[in-house]
Amino acid sequence: MSTRNINVVVVGVSVAGLKVAKTIAALSKQGFPNLSVTAIDKNEYFYHAIAAPRATVDLEFGKKLFFPLADILQEFELNPAEPKHKFIQTTLTSINNAQKTIQLSNGQTVAFDYLVLATGAKNKSPAHYEGATMAEVHRNMEETFESIKEAKDILIIGGGAVGIEIAGEIATAYKDKKITLVHAAERLMPLNFKHGISNGAVDKLQRLGVEVVLNEKIKVPEDVLFNCRVRPLTLTGTSGREYASDLQILATGTTVHTEYMESLEGELGEHLRNDWGGIKVRKTLQANSESLPNIFVPGDCNALPAGYKFAYLVGAMSTVVATNIIAMINAGFDEDSTKKPTLVEYTSGPMNIMFVPIGPNLGVAQIMGIAFGKSFMGNVLAGFKSKDYFYAKIAAEVTDVVK
Ligand SMILES: Cc1cc2nc3c(=O)[nH]c(=O)nc-3n(C[C@H](O)[C@H](O)[C@H](O)COP(=O)(O)OP(=O)(O)OC[C@H]3O[C@@H](n4cnc5c(N)ncnc54)[C@H](O)[C@@H]3O)c2cc1C
Repeated sequence: MSTRNINVVVVGVSVAGLKVAKTIAALSKQGFPNLSVTAIDKNEYFYHAIAAPRATVDLEFGKKLFFPLADILQEFELNPAEPKHKFIQTTLTSINNAQKTIQLSNGQTVAFDYLVLATGAKNKSPAHYEGATMAEVHRNMEETFESIKEAKDILIIGGGAVGIEIAGEIATAYKDKKITLVHAAERLMPLNFKHGISNGAVDKLQRLGVEVVLNEKIKVPEDVLFNCRVRPLTLTGTSGREYASDLQILATGTTVHTEYMESLEGELGEHLRNDWGGIKVRKTLQANSESLPNIFVPGDCNALPAGYKFAYLVGAMSTVVATNIIAMINAGFDEDSTKKPTLVEYTSGPMNIMFVPIGPNLGVAQIMGIAFGKSFMGNVLAGFKSKDYFYAKIAAEVTDVVK
């Protein structure tokens, strides 16, 4: 291992980035004293997005889903005069590979030896909320909660797990609302899941009074803001049917945060992203370019398909990335780039376990290809998630300090 200072920069401190940052920071206390971590996130909090559906009907619970990063990373600032590891709240805007630096929206330039891009993806409210500070994001969640409470007729567009869970929570909490869930495909859930889970979801949503419309694509106007506020609007489906509602929820998928790659693509003259913006990676989770062996991309912002965009698979990606960075440091790669250790590959398959709560009492699940749809067993299995949407587990994990 080299004796010079090595800085590992981790951008995006959520499921993927937090684990890498903590693993590397822990290593610096175990015989790697010249190793430092710079963690960067545009927000001042870690957000447990998985529990967003419950927050639509339980505001107190919802507010607990944001954990201040200053608390989570407090060991990063043990010596505030000259911290070994740092947390900077700001946005990554560009990368310069020749200089091995990144540019941040606060004007800072930060040098890296290893760069981890874990900037994930965003959904529309109420899955994600605008706001970089705790105060802003709490206010937005509060306004969303009040809007959902006030709305009488809610249209949910998109029948994947997120749309189903939101519909189930709202329909259970508010029996008097008219809720319509419209989905473009012939059945609910991504089509790689079994028919049983799709049919079970329709059945259980209908038991709660939700109207489920399949094979119908709503024409979503691009100039209309979908921010989950009460706003009467009539939208039209491909069948010609008109859907009047006073609140609309877009649950149609995610958009990756990878705009900062543009400058790097210009510098290298290479397309480093796929058609939806995902950063292309090798099996080792290094960015897919000969020029970028020290840039790693775990989590939702990489170009792996939708079946990989789940927290536990993202956690496995972080382990691969941390292991590979440690191997490269041990081999002295940062001083001599001809020293290339054998790196581990990410071998997990796409998600094969799925729990989808439909309110606190109902739900569907799929485990190792077996669907639990209309049956009582689906409710039992989804109950493991609907109890608190893994809040207690995540709270324990994120607040666990580096030993
Ligand atoms: C509503 C919902 C329900 C879900 N349910 C489940 C579930 O039941 N089970 C499951 O396994 N998974 C679920 N997921 C998916 C899971 O949450 C994601 O797979 C996981 O959060 C991805 O982690 P990540 O670290 O890659 O990205 P993210 O969690 O998206 O985090 C990205 C981080 O990067 C930061 N960032 C972005 N751009 C920049 C920038 N330019 N500069 C600085 N910082 C930046 C963001 O602020 C954020 O902190 C759900 C997701 C949602 C939205």
